[in-house]
Amino acid sequence: MRIEYDVKLGFKDVMFRPKRSTLKSRSMVSMERTFTFMHTGKTWTGIPVMAANMDTVGTFEMALALQKHQLFTAIHKHYSLEQWEGFLQNAPEEIVDSIAVSTGTGENDSKKVDELFKRHPQLKFLCIDVANGYSEHFVHYVNATRERHPEIVIMAGNVVTGEMVEELLLAGADIVKVGIGPGSVCTTRIKTGVGYPQLSAVVECADAAHGLGGQIISDGGCTTPGDVSKAFGGGADFVMLGGMFAGHNESGGELIDKNGKKYREFYGMSSATAMDKHVGGVANYRASEGKTVRVPYRGPVDETVLDILGGVRSTCTYVGASKLKELTKRTTFIRVEEQENQVYND
Ligand code: 5GP
Repeated sequence: MRIEYDVKLGFKDVMFRPKRSTLKSRSMVSMERTFTFMHTGKTWTGIPVMAANMDTVGTFEMALALQKHQLFTAIHKHYSLEQWEGFLQNAPEEIVDSIAVSTGTGENDSKKVDELFKRHPQLKFLCIDVANGYSEHFVHYVNATRERHPEIVIMAGNVVTGEMVEELLLAGADIVKVGIGPGSVCTTRIKTGVGYPQLSAVVECADAAHGLGGQIISDGGCTTPGDVSKAFGGGADFVMLGGMFAGHNESGGELIDKNGKKYREFYGMSSATAMDKHVGGVANYRASEGKTVRVPYRGPVDETVLDILGGVRSTCTYVGASKLKELTKRTTFIRVEEQENQVYND
């Protein structure tokens, strides 16, 4: 047994230190980024905030709404080939620049992915997503997918340490998804005791990825626009959001009316709710590692997007970054023991 005594930090443990700035207004901040991906050499330009591949977040409807703001959506893996067909036939052609197909690592998953990309060669992004990205099987799967699909931009995860980021990039991933346990409907840390505070995971994984020419996605744990800024400040290339995009018109999840108030159901992808729905229940050798909650219904997602982007732009003005790309270079985090004043919170 070994103990690492370095303290690892989450978003709540830090704040940005303001810096002198020549920016007069947040409207002067450019949120667009362009990335060139290491295996495919393809480029992507947009605002690197993405909806999570959860069936109560990463829906086709969400993709259409977010694309209008130049944001990205990892579409959840439970749509059938027929549903994909219908979506792509009716969707604007450019939607393929703003979406990723998601998949697990089962045998049927790879057949479905191959078929989907064969039928729709215009698709560009694939997100290979497992709860535990440390298994040898996962690395082999990423590698085999890269060999079959040299043209596809592959995102793979989740991991939280630099050496595993390097291994996945070398195995064929262009982008590595980072986060174990920080999610709003995740119970992994309770059920297993495994995890890594998200900000430190981002800082360490970004450093490893950028050394090889890869990118990372900070996945999970953002509860406010300030957290999204902190993920970017820590070096994340993309930030993935689940809970912050839940509860809208475009999110999936049952609409619930209770005492005149509207809610939407939101649940983790390995919650009992998700497993009952998609795989006929929780297998008896595993524990459910996700919660099912009700979130207040929030109408169209547009306002939430503007709120998030407004917050990040404002962070940039406080530290003097005229472009989102400069935010991490301009970031000094201070270690804190307090966040906001809660005197008027319920
Ligand atoms: P959020 O933005 O809601 O804090 O986190 C979203 C992320 O939580 C997802 O992208 C995914 O990585 C993770 N997640 C989603 N469902 C589950 C689950 O059932 N269990 C665990 N451990 N993580 C989940």
